[in-house]
Amino acid sequence: MAGPARARLTVLAGPSGVGKGTLAAAIADRYPVSLSVSATTREPRPGEIDGANYFFVSREQFAAAVRRGELLEWAEYNGNLYGTPRAPVEAALAKGRPVLLEIELAGARQVRDAAPDALQIFLTPPTWEELERRLETRATEGPKQRAARLETARSEIAAAGEFDAVVVNDDLEHAVAEVAALMGLN
Ligand code: 5GP
Repeated sequence: MAGPARARLTVLAGPSGVGKGTLAAAIADRYPVSLSVSATTREPRPGEIDGANYFFVSREQFAAAVRRGELLEWAEYNGNLYGTPRAPVEAALAKGRPVLLEIELAGARQVRDAAPDALQIFLTPPTWEELERRLETRATEGPKQRAARLETARSEIAAAGEFDAVVVNDDLEHAVAEVAALMGLN
């Protein structure tokens, strides 16, 4: 086909702790890809920066954004709300820049309906034990939150078959290369 390839929206889903954030950051570091910054009602973790990692908002602010139709998708995940601001995604795509969304399963399903052309990638751990180990060593959540995230992870992994591609995060370099190839970046 003549002309430049159409900029594409890519969804990166996968269970908490699998390494989506690290992988997405590596892709954005090496390729001309925009990472979407989500809005969330969860508390910032130590070191997280408002406007960079997330837009940290109140439930009222989040609800107002939903009401105004400002979110491309949104979902509740373990008691907190998370959503993708629509405008920056559309602006980047309009400029011809691919956009990567790092989101959970319910959001990925909404994008599948709203943007059927989006590429849907599921990142999965090499083993269940490895996911448990990663969540434990990351230590960003207490034992109760961690258990809840592992329970959610089970149902997310069970839905991997819905995605266009499943990438095993056994090794970061390997996973980056696979995702870049799927996105047509190399
Ligand atoms: P965390 O609290 O670990 O930063 O994120 C929890 C989960 O929410 C992760 O699976 C993450 O990918 C997902 N998430 C982050 N931003 C969004 C978003 O904008 N929409 C949806 N649906 N999920 C998100």
